[in-house]
Amino acid sequence: MKIIKHSGWGRTHSSISKCYEIDEFNQSLISENQSGLAIGLGRSYGDTCVNSEGIYFRMKKLNRIEIDAERMIATCSADVTIGDLERASISNNLFPITVPGTEFVTIGGAIASNIHGKSHHQAGSFGKSLIEIKLLKSNSELITLYPVGETAEYFWATVGGLGLTGIIVEATIKLQKIENAYVEIAEERAKNFDELIDLLNDFDKRFLYTVAWIDLSGNFSGRGLVTGGNHASQKVISQSKIKNPNNFIEPKNLKIPDVFPEGFMNWFTIKVFNFIWFKKPIKREIQHLQHFLHPLDNVLNWNRIYGPTGFIQFQFSVPDHNLYFIKKVLELMRKYRIASFLGVLKKFGDGDRSLLGFPNPGWTLAVDVPANRSDFINEISSLMDELAQIGGRVYLSKDTILNVNQFRRMYPEYNRFIEQKKELDPLDFWKSDQGRRLALC
Ligand SMILES: Cc1cc2nc3c(=O)[nH]c(=O)nc-3n(C[C@H](O)[C@H](O)[C@H](O)COP(=O)(O)OP(=O)(O)OC[C@H]3O[C@@H](n4cnc5c(N)ncnc54)[C@H](O)[C@@H]3O)c2cc1C
Repeated sequence: MKIIKHSGWGRTHSSISKCYEIDEFNQSLISENQSGLAIGLGRSYGDTCVNSEGIYFRMKKLNRIEIDAERMIATCSADVTIGDLERASISNNLFPITVPGTEFVTIGGAIASNIHGKSHHQAGSFGKSLIEIKLLKSNSELITLYPVGETAEYFWATVGGLGLTGIIVEATIKLQKIENAYVEIAEERAKNFDELIDLLNDFDKRFLYTVAWIDLSGNFSGRGLVTGGNHASQKVISQSKIKNPNNFIEPKNLKIPDVFPEGFMNWFTIKVFNFIWFKKPIKREIQHLQHFLHPLDNVLNWNRIYGPTGFIQFQFSVPDHNLYFIKKVLELMRKYRIASFLGVLKKFGDGDRSLLGFPNPGWTLAVDVPANRSDFINEISSLMDELAQIGGRVYLSKDTILNVNQFRRMYPEYNRFIEQKKELDPLDFWKSDQGRRLALC
């Protein structure tokens, strides 16, 4: 057992609590403590991975990855990071089907958030590539869950279940075949929001990986860059000068010190960054898959640049015909002079059976907001009823603002989730600050 300070990536919520390794889990810990929560690498943003009224459980660093190259599957302990799974897969000419924007996410965290990636329009969320999950219940029973059949309801409550059904200890994951570790990428600039949407729709037809970056400087018209990527063929690789097409990238250790004052990321600095980024030369090139998929991973702890008060990442989705809501948010950012370091737009494909899963067909926008801008955050919070009304929702792994009523309207399967949680965790031991806020535990 260790005493740790654990916080979400936005550094807005944290707690100092006891943290046990899974091997230390036993029934006396359950009777002695009010609640527990499994945690990964703290890459969820707000209070999703914080349990200020109880204890934490963390997987021992087992890093167990077994790849069955013939069946194109990997069985991993839940502590394995997406990056480690990528590296082990690449050596076998395989790659995970869904990965998030950073490699520093554990398999447990990826399942508990049912993460989505740049391939969502074709591949769906992480849950879609899962074959089975091993879950440790609060009564110490280890159960195996499958996406179909008798255990399917438990499975789809655990996928996207924010750690509230138990501790995920292992998972078996489908992989995709790749010829090498490179992608051919293309980029195009869009002058305004409507052009950006048209381009992204067009890129979605041509590329497996797509994303748009919105320029949040200037007049917030929605101008930006659309990027698409497809796995490179061996032919393309042989024409290029790449010597080792199956190399993989080790994680970087470049850390930035925690010395940034509040307000360092201000209207001016962020506008300059956005302006330069928008004007940068358009790329048409071959890039390493891991560089392309995790562009922010060159610097660890980049969340420190927002200073000690931190930031929230506001990510929401709207159905296809309600793009007006995204324009409204951009307009509000202009009005309040909220310059976001990152504005990311993506079109989702089909949703899945995950009871609290985020992606649904439509569009999603993610923007960073300094946590000290309560004026803007209050205004956004006042729009949450409207967002629920038009069929939109906030990504729970980044949420800090929803109230119970708004959450229930956005996630109408919440009742079925609570029923499954009661069956899997009759003592109601697994809790988080977010779970309490949203009346999930
Ligand atoms: C730079 C960056 C980019 C990101 N890009 C994306 C993206 O493209 N798509 C996307 O969907 N998300 C993205 N995220 C969010 C991130 O993928 C999720 O929040 C993910 O859940 C974080 O995993 P973690 O291992 O850090 O877990 P934590 O943040 O520590 O925990 C997150 C949740 O998982 C639960 N959990 C963790 N381990 C276990 C376990 N073993 N058993 C049960 N529950 C567990 C926790 O209880 C908690 O509810 C990004 C985050 C960052 C910082």
